[in-house]
Amino acid sequence: MKFGFDIDDTLINLREHAFTIYNKKLKKNVSIEDFHALNRVEIHGPFELTDEQGKDMWNSSLEEIYYTNCPPFPNAVETLQELEKKGHEIYYITARPKEHGERTKKWLKEQGFPVRDDRFYYGMQDHEKVEIIKELQLDYYFDDKAEVLDTLTHDSLKVFVRDQSYNRHLQYPRILDWTDLKEILKNELE
Ligand SMILES: [Mg+2]
Repeated sequence: MKFGFDIDDTLINLREHAFTIYNKKLKKNVSIEDFHALNRVEIHGPFELTDEQGKDMWNSSLEEIYYTNCPPFPNAVETLQELEKKGHEIYYITARPKEHGERTKKWLKEQGFPVRDDRFYYGMQDHEKVEIIKELQLDYYFDDKAEVLDTLTHDSLKVFVRDQSYNRHLQYPRILDWTDLKEILKNELE
């Protein structure tokens, strides 16, 4: 089977990591409850930044957000390793900008994710993600963003949403912890 994964906030806890960095850089102490209550992807609201300032903050912190110690979600690495061991194909499809593609790939490998160079796609706008997912004829795809998931409609693809505070309105089967996937597949593949 072919499995496709978004990276940020699907496999790794990037926004929360960035939230911690914002607190440090802005010398604030905004509580993590404010993070968990966010109903949008952008995290700058609780720091009282405008959208413009928030964008600048994100872009100027990108190096630190991407390449320090952002934790994978619990059981993400182990689950993907197990899929690979069982002979499934694992694809990564990320919107991270082109200039960050190769370093991101290296970083993921260092965290223990099973990455093959020819199964890694970056610099993907939402609509490009959709195209590549179709082209690859994936069986399963996992993402946190409504904008991507809502456009994936072809019949043979099974779509899952990685639970986040801003996507609770989506009706797709939901991954709360990556061990959930084992359960889902146990029912489907056996
Ligand atoms: Mg994402």
